[in-house]
Amino acid sequence: MTTDVQAAILRYHAELDPIGVKLVAVSKFHPASLVSEAYDAGQRLFGESRVDELLEKEQVLPSDIVWHFIGHLQTNKVRKLVGHVSMIESVDSERLLDLIDAESARKGVVTDVLLQLHVAREETKFGFSPDELLEYFRDRRFENLKATHLCGVMGMASNTDDVDRINADFKQIADTRRQILEIAPDLMRFDIVSMGMSGDYREAIANGATHVRIGTDIFGSRQY
Ligand SMILES: *Cc1c(COP(=O)(O)O)cnc(C)c1O
Repeated sequence: MTTDVQAAILRYHAELDPIGVKLVAVSKFHPASLVSEAYDAGQRLFGESRVDELLEKEQVLPSDIVWHFIGHLQTNKVRKLVGHVSMIESVDSERLLDLIDAESARKGVVTDVLLQLHVAREETKFGFSPDELLEYFRDRRFENLKATHLCGVMGMASNTDDVDRINADFKQIADTRRQILEIAPDLMRFDIVSMGMSGDYREAIANGATHVRIGTDIFGSRQY
């Protein structure tokens, strides 16, 4: 029998696979049993936003699951997380980036990361401003990284019904990645644009998303 979660996974893959967009199934606040259901429908890439929750699920679920960390990462949790995830999508400050790099070097691993951009009109969202990030690359401060691979950018659109606003936010995220590549054309494989959630993933794709992060529409509403 196909469960609701599995039907949603299959529906998303039918829509996204032909256009080459990757689905990050956001399982935060949902039990490992639901991750298993999605896994049985073929899903391998999952997003979690809390370190302890991710580590607990990692212990009980198949080892070929690819975990992306997508939440705000507190600096005191870096040590716990590095080595346990394929990618940290939510690197929102240079200090955090440097800590991830130092911890990765210490553990002898290379950590793939995305740089989180803040373009939405909300005060509370974490991330670099586009200008801040462009300056980081203009100064070539990324050359100090030893054990981190910068794979692209991640971001969110404003939480609004205004579709023009949402499109403008997504366009700015995608444009910033292109501008970074113009400033530093020697960056290798800086090609990921992770943006779009249940409510706005179609706009995100129209503006160049390579990865969408879908939670509610697959797993249902979350019990916080
Ligand atoms: C929770 C979360 C999502 C998924 O949001 P939905 O609206 O449930 O699809 C995507 N990205 C981030 C960063 C999140 O924290």
